[in-house]
Amino acid sequence: VAKKKGMNSIQFYSSKMYEDMNKTMNLERALRQAVEEKDFILHYQPQIDLSSNKIIGVEALIRWKHPVTGNISPSEFIPLAEETGLITPITKWVLETACKQNKKWQENGTLPIRIGVNISPYLFREDLIEMVKRILNETQLQPCYLELEITESLMQDPTFTIPILKELKSLGVRLSIDDFGTGYSSLAYLRHFPIDSLKIDRSFINDIQTDNGVMVKAIIDMASHLSVSVIAEGIENQEQLYFLSKLNCSEGQGYYFSRPLPSSEINKILPKFEKVGEQR
Ligand code: C2E
Ligand code: MG
Ligand code: MG
Ligand code: MG
Repeated sequence: VAKKKGMNSIQFYSSKMYEDMNKTMNLERALRQAVEEKDFILHYQPQIDLSSNKIIGVEALIRWKHPVTGNISPSEFIPLAEETGLITPITKWVLETACKQNKKWQENGTLPIRIGVNISPYLFREDLIEMVKRILNETQLQPCYLELEITESLMQDPTFTIPILKELKSLGVRLSIDDFGTGYSSLAYLRHFPIDSLKIDRSFINDIQTDNGVMVKAIIDMASHLSVSVIAEGIENQEQLYFLSKLNCSEGQGYYFSRPLPSSEINKILPKFEKVGEQR
């Protein structure tokens, strides 16, 4: 009986595995097609100067426009895009679309603000420099209005990362470290990275009322010693904002100000904020 049961469970697991594999293969095929047909959209989330309440930037966040299920969130397809290499054409599309949009906003007189684009560690190679250079050239966006958000994990390999960062920096773009504080970066090396800004991970903002902001304070103090700016991610309520202001956090982003919105809706929320800020 036991043997029979065992065999059944093997069968069960293997058909489950087969099902999963099939799902992944279908998803991969669908994603490949989406890349070809550019079935994506960028939503933009405002970034606010906390002392003036002005918009100083937006972060571009990708969504997959799926004909059946509606928008699919990046956390559901970026990992597969990374595994399959599709992240390269996707990032190219994101950079082109974001730079074009920002240029358009500037020409409309809506801005100037900077636009943040997430760069997967899989894309962080020599040829990223050429890609960014070409797109800036094609869209005619001034480099200082583009910010590349990289992940903290890259900091574990400074001899590889620093030269590429320096070349990117020499193009004139801004560089920030996303989800800062979660990635075990070597603090000793932080000063050698030519970065402009640390994006404090949303988990620290979430904890701010229970830990009295000790973690946020530590990151803000360190950033100020290194002369890099900070932006708090995931501000959801007034209490968190109050705490952050007390800690002299200069910039913030989160649902409290605005969810990420399609480009057509960004114009509508502008009046909510005093006035669009100048590039700092
Ligand atoms: P991220 O770069 O850290 O982006 C911030 C995420 O937090 C976004 O999720 C945003 O919608 C969400 N968020 C913003 N404010 C709040 C808040 O107040 N509360 C909460 N709970 N969440 C908030 P989203 O758009 O689902 O993106 C998730 C992640 O996917 C991003 O995290 C980024 O790592 C990645 N991603 C998004 N777009 C791209 C892209 O174009 N390329 C790459 N490589 N990755 C991307
Ligand atoms: Mg980001
Ligand atoms: Mg983040
Ligand atoms: Mg994240």
